[in-house]
Amino acid sequence: MSVALSPRQETIPAIYQEIHPPLDSARAVLEADRCLECGGPYAPAPCTAACPARVPVPQFIRAIREGRPEEAAKLIFEANILGGSCARVCPVEELCEGACVLTKEGRRAVSIGRLQRYATDVALARQLNFFARPAWKPQSVGVIGAGPAGLACAAELAKMGYDVVVYESRPEPGGLITSAIAPYKQLKDPLPAEVAMIERLGVKIHYGVTVGKDISFEELERRHQAIFLGVGLGADASARIPGEDLHGVWDSLEFVEQIKSGRPPKIGPIVAVIGGGNTAIDVAREAVRLGATNVMVLYRRTEEQMPAFKHEVKAARREGVHFYFLTAPVRLLGNGKVRKIECIHMRLGAPDKSGRPAPEPVPGTEFTLEVDTVIKAIGQEKRVELWKALGLETEGGLVTVNENFQTNREKYFAGGDCINGGATVVEAVRHGKLAAQGIAKFLAKG
Ligand SMILES: Cc1cc2nc3c(=O)[nH]c(=O)nc-3n(C[C@H](O)[C@H](O)[C@H](O)COP(=O)(O)OP(=O)(O)OC[C@H]3O[C@@H](n4cnc5c(N)ncnc54)[C@H](O)[C@@H]3O)c2cc1C
Repeated sequence: MSVALSPRQETIPAIYQEIHPPLDSARAVLEADRCLECGGPYAPAPCTAACPARVPVPQFIRAIREGRPEEAAKLIFEANILGGSCARVCPVEELCEGACVLTKEGRRAVSIGRLQRYATDVALARQLNFFARPAWKPQSVGVIGAGPAGLACAAELAKMGYDVVVYESRPEPGGLITSAIAPYKQLKDPLPAEVAMIERLGVKIHYGVTVGKDISFEELERRHQAIFLGVGLGADASARIPGEDLHGVWDSLEFVEQIKSGRPPKIGPIVAVIGGGNTAIDVAREAVRLGATNVMVLYRRTEEQMPAFKHEVKAARREGVHFYFLTAPVRLLGNGKVRKIECIHMRLGAPDKSGRPAPEPVPGTEFTLEVDTVIKAIGQEKRVELWKALGLETEGGLVTVNENFQTNREKYFAGGDCINGGATVVEAVRHGKLAAQGIAKFLAKG
């Protein structure tokens, strides 16, 4: 397989080459000219309605077409403070571009993601200041987690004039954008510039501080009048099969993080990925870029039931990834190092708790595949212990919130992956914004 190269990317290792390289200004204007500027005073354009952050797409595209990319960026960042990151990582095929009316006529959607990237790149490179700080309000909000949900919540609150302090366990911001999202979508930039913009709004970020360990929740309650939990999910869930501790067996998050930190793991030519979500597809595509010649995704249900986005599955297939459906791993075999994976065929039975037909093993159908590397991508653990310690109501291990993103403890609000079980960056941004509005309502009551 070969990954398409844009001329400027030829010298970059395949794993770090961007799949959607930037547009130059001439191509951006030409692309912007394709937009039909749908929508009007009574209904938003379909692309805007499909965007969880409600970015005013036709308006920013018009500004690009008329040669005003800075104004386009202002419209984008007002709606989505991580508009540059989202331009790279959003599943646009499922959101704005998927709703573009051109596709209804069988034409190619306007490249909204790449246009959004063009405008935000121009503005971030010039360090433009789009937001004037309003008068300070006396109340302070503590935000736990500098992932997309926490950053969006912090920015929105600072725009309203609140004092905002973010506490982040890791040494850098971004949550899964920084540590987990495929490097061919986004390595780091433009996140640091977006965070600098948030800090210019007056938000203070304390890195290397784990709330509950380095500082207590009680102390945070003393310091702040409201607290936003944007803590995401935990580590990779275990596959609960023998052999997981063999050398050559990776957790997906650890695997991607090593690539993103510039130390790509050494993998063998045959790679098996366990799972059927977007993370499984991402790590399979990463394995291809790292040089594996046979990458297999093993999923215990059927293709129709696979949670991964269809366009991502299609792209993985194009890059040479093979899929084994109705296949579950039974154990990993090897002498210190993984050599084989024993699997069993599955069939679909009665619906399980999720309402989907439950996969069940077909006795006597075990078979073995030779492997050099196994990557487990079956989802992240939920933060059940934390919710218990805080006395928060949960459902299925996720915190429950009301329409204001407020938990059963009135001072605590929550959003992002820790309430939806894992979705997208732009969905976490939406939660952060709406929770900020919920917090403002709560604080206004005094
Ligand atoms: C492998 C992978 C690939 C993905 N690819 C995409 C993609 O291409 N596009 C897309 O839109 N979405 C993608 N996602 C999903 C997306 O990354 C998440 O939905 C999004 O990051 C959730 O944001 P969040 O702020 O809720 O949580 P997170 O991003 O997980 O951020 C939570 C933050 O809270 C911090 N934290 C946790 N506990 C504490 C504590 N006690 N004290 C202080 N700090 C704490 C963490 O260190 C972390 O920085 C992907 C996810 C994964 C796992």
